[in-house]
Amino acid sequence: MQVHQFEAIIVGAGGAGLMAALYASKGGAKVAVVSKLYPTRSHTGAAQGGIGAALGNLEEDKPLWHAFDTVKGGDYLVDQHAAMVLATEAIDSVIELEHMGLPFDRTEDGRISQRRFGGHTSNFGEKAVRRACHAADRTGHMILQTLYQQCIKENVNFFDEFHVVDMVMNNGKVCGVVAIQLGTGEFHIFHGKAVLFATGGWGRVWQVTSNAHSLTGDGSVVTLRRGVPLQDMEFYQFHPTGIYRMGILITEGVRGEGGVLTNRHGARFMENYAPNLKDLASRDVVSRAIYLEIRDGNGIQGKDYVHLDLRPQTVNHYLAEAGETRRLDREIIESKLPDILDFCRTYLGIDPVDAPMPVQPTAHYAMGGIPTNVNGEVVTDANWTVLPGLYAAGECACVSVHGANRLGTNSLVDLVVFGRRGGKSIAEYVKQADYVPLPSNPTGEIEAEMQRIRKTNGKTRPHELRSTMQKVMMDNVGVFREAPLIQEALDCVRELRERYMTDIHIDDQGMRFNTDVLEAWELGSMLDLAEMTAISALARTESRGGHYREDFNQRDDENWLVHSLIAPTAETVGVGAKNPEYALTHDKKVDMSLYEAGDDRFKPKPRKY
Ligand SMILES: Cc1cc2nc3c(=O)[nH]c(=O)nc-3n(C[C@H](O)[C@H](O)[C@H](O)COP(=O)(O)OP(=O)(O)OC[C@H]3O[C@@H](n4cnc5c(N)ncnc54)[C@H](O)[C@@H]3O)c2cc1C
Repeated sequence: MQVHQFEAIIVGAGGAGLMAALYASKGGAKVAVVSKLYPTRSHTGAAQGGIGAALGNLEEDKPLWHAFDTVKGGDYLVDQHAAMVLATEAIDSVIELEHMGLPFDRTEDGRISQRRFGGHTSNFGEKAVRRACHAADRTGHMILQTLYQQCIKENVNFFDEFHVVDMVMNNGKVCGVVAIQLGTGEFHIFHGKAVLFATGGWGRVWQVTSNAHSLTGDGSVVTLRRGVPLQDMEFYQFHPTGIYRMGILITEGVRGEGGVLTNRHGARFMENYAPNLKDLASRDVVSRAIYLEIRDGNGIQGKDYVHLDLRPQTVNHYLAEAGETRRLDREIIESKLPDILDFCRTYLGIDPVDAPMPVQPTAHYAMGGIPTNVNGEVVTDANWTVLPGLYAAGECACVSVHGANRLGTNSLVDLVVFGRRGGKSIAEYVKQADYVPLPSNPTGEIEAEMQRIRKTNGKTRPHELRSTMQKVMMDNVGVFREAPLIQEALDCVRELRERYMTDIHIDDQGMRFNTDVLEAWELGSMLDLAEMTAISALARTESRGGHYREDFNQRDDENWLVHSLIAPTAETVGVGAKNPEYALTHDKKVDMSLYEAGDDRFKPKPRKY
């Protein structure tokens, strides 16, 4: 068993992990990044449309407007102080990325190009504004490459293809993580003063998703199983435009450039649901509108999808109608959205310049996650009690700047703003903290659990359980929810967990690159996440943002303007609990500091676009 000692251990090498590693290292800490994927294969590389910052390069924009859109977009469950930090620091984070060498698209006078995105407005909702800074439709890819190069320059140590499966604690204090090296199957201990989780989201819990196979949420479950709660698990975002049946994302940037959603009559239906912003309303609003069109029999050919129309003749008609002078043509589309065109040509055999794209909502983004303050420190209760030495950033964390519904481009900002803050906090923390000694046998529990998975010798292949979970979560805990359906999903997931514990079968008994075992272990994490999502969704008897209850279809600020926290009960904390039980609380207040400071524009009101 190898033990590695580093002051700062960053789990995950996406945008959040790399930004944190960079700043911890710049601050003088000895840093290791431990990642189950090779860093530049992290999912940040798939981000397409842009990173939001009120640079005002093409029209007037302000951080306060960005903060307002974020709070409103999140259906007022956003912590307002955090939103202001996000919007303010977005500006210099984007400029910093530019100075690191990120090749943003340019305006004619050489400044960073910006485009429209859902829910981005000027002057507190007045009209759509160009805020999304972009590098074609490969913005995340460019961010990831840029940050990786900077980390190499700063001598960050990388442990690629090391899968973290447990967090090590001693007397309630964090002292490291346990990882399995994929190539050898050996267990490694990473002993650190501080650990930051940046392990991304868990779209793979649902059947149709924009997320890669690796997005199974296991980092968040590793901390959970050691007693750290998860916040706002009922809020999971469905992006309106995934390629029909495949879920592959068609960026909101398509609508930002002028693309429109149409039904089987060729009608632009978003005018009926969001008269002001139309196709650029926030994602929860657009996803629900698509489902309602389908329910009304307006899906294409009566099926469960609609069209996203980017053909120049359609777009130019609507641009002219709106009094805009700009026009789209093949050349502009090819230069601004090259990957989208490629996806459609490859996977659908159609060219979006000539034919509309078939789309349906796709599971996309976890608004909830490991609760943190604005410095990336993990907090464990409604009183914001910090767990010393533990940090989180990026999609696995919940700051909370996304509240009940994230705005497009705000995740990439979240990664760089709060990744940087987390890295800086760690650099300060490790200067004064000592290493907490490792407990005796730090790998004992997780080795036993891995052995159980390997040796159960039942009848069920893990993928069978995974498919059933994904289907029931898609059908019952998706865009529309109601009590009997959520309960059915919960019962189903619990039964799947029972079978997962007693009846699975693993074919590959080898040590090297045993993805059979690790995928089975990931399934265990997803079952936990599915169960917590269903429990939290059942309890929240209101509709807010991405959580829409048909049986409670109004927002209820009097009773529900609060965050949820869910964690295993004291009796079921630990790795490999057969039937974990969860305690769910709703006493964590939403930070309303902008409103409380007298700015009435931040007062919760009905959301209209
Ligand atoms: C198709 C698509 C397009 C998007 N477009 C945009 C956009 O235009 N703008 C925007 O703001 N947002 C966008 N998003 C959302 C955004 O890209 C993600 O939320 C964000 O990139 C997540 O970054 P992250 O650093 O938190 O995690 P990731 O980039 O997902 O990285 C997670 C890291 O954790 C590691 N990891 C996970 N589990 C373990 C483990 N157990 N042990 C070791 N390592 C582990 C992985 O190897 C990986 O390195 C998009 C998302 C998708 C899916």
